[in-house]
Amino acid sequence: MKDTPASSTACVHGGERPDPSTGALEPPLHLASAFAFDDAAQAAGAFSGENAHLIYGRWGNPTVSNLEAKVTALEAPGEESGFDACATASGMAAIAATLLTLCNAGEHIVAPRSMYGESARLLRERLPKLGIQTTFVDQTDPASYERAITESTRVLYVETPANPTLTVTDLAAVAAIARARGLTIVADNTFATPYCQRPLAHGVDLVIHSMTKAIGGHGDAIGGVVVGDTARIRAIKETAIKTFGGVLAPFNALLIARGIRTFALRAKQANQTALALAHALAEDGRVVRVHYPGLPSHPGHAIARKQMSSFGALVAFEVESLEMGRRVLEAVRVVTHAVSLGDVRSLITHPASTTHFSMPAEARRSAGIGDGLLRISCGIEESVDVVADVTRALHAAVR
Ligand code: PLP
Repeated sequence: MKDTPASSTACVHGGERPDPSTGALEPPLHLASAFAFDDAAQAAGAFSGENAHLIYGRWGNPTVSNLEAKVTALEAPGEESGFDACATASGMAAIAATLLTLCNAGEHIVAPRSMYGESARLLRERLPKLGIQTTFVDQTDPASYERAITESTRVLYVETPANPTLTVTDLAAVAAIARARGLTIVADNTFATPYCQRPLAHGVDLVIHSMTKAIGGHGDAIGGVVVGDTARIRAIKETAIKTFGGVLAPFNALLIARGIRTFALRAKQANQTALALAHALAEDGRVVRVHYPGLPSHPGHAIARKQMSSFGALVAFEVESLEMGRRVLEAVRVVTHAVSLGDVRSLITHPASTTHFSMPAEARRSAGIGDGLLRISCGIEESVDVVADVTRALHAAVR
């Protein structure tokens, strides 16, 4: 599988063809919740799998299928025949459905210490109630995944770069451990995006995205997706879509597919701004520490260079205190103070009091999420404007 940045050509044309019934270039929005059968034999064949006739919106919808084909083309270019995607109502729906498909009561997951707060909460609080335990490990050390594996382990879970610390995990090394032990490796690729990193090319089995973020890109549609081999995706569709009902609404599918057409252009601009911002912050005496995998000073830089073609749109940095962090948030003008990421707008958050508030304070500390940590998701504004805004906000915050 190729490991090159998602190209604009793939973003525009991937998984698409003119609508067969009208020739429309823009795929139609199918809102129907049920689809008529010509006769009893066709209905029976649709249910038994003998024909591909559509049945019911929760089991399949042409607008959603079009989006799934587009995302498959981004994450598994040239390999679409063996791969498929399952779109879900949100990124969390994709994560929950994937783990509940792969794990049963009595089974075990190995996951990183630093990861998206709600994913951590699912693993730490919710899955144990269903008999599924998780061991959290130092994600910078693949051997710590190996050491945590027990007889009941089914999944090695990776998020790289991680939310919000930008910690990097060696995908190929953890995938090799999973392969040797017959386990499934799942990677949340939301932060990296297929523009920067294709986990499937490094041996990962299933790739998850919050499409709410850079893939949709406009901050107007919540959605998630899992991409992988057709057999695993078929199983996840049975659980996530048919049984749990976490289906993506067709209108959101249309908005996200439309967003994908400009994804590579947006990612290129946002990554360029993030790199410029990271360098500017690294030279700013008011900043205690900068976390960006593209900086040679980042502890995961060498691995990032190996597995990423560019370093993403997210930059985290630490200021001396919670109070100063709050003053920075209140002083930005071009950058917007809001959660989420991957938007056309640059966004700034304070993880310890927002996205990672639900993490116990001790877990936050061991994940490296300090009280003075701020996270910026670069948008598509001019790089100089974003850098100047953050620099000015830092100046205002120390006065
Ligand atoms: N994964 C990561 C890395 C995230 O940052 C988020 C949300 O911020 C999610 C998953 C969940 O996505 P959603 O909000 O679409 O459920």
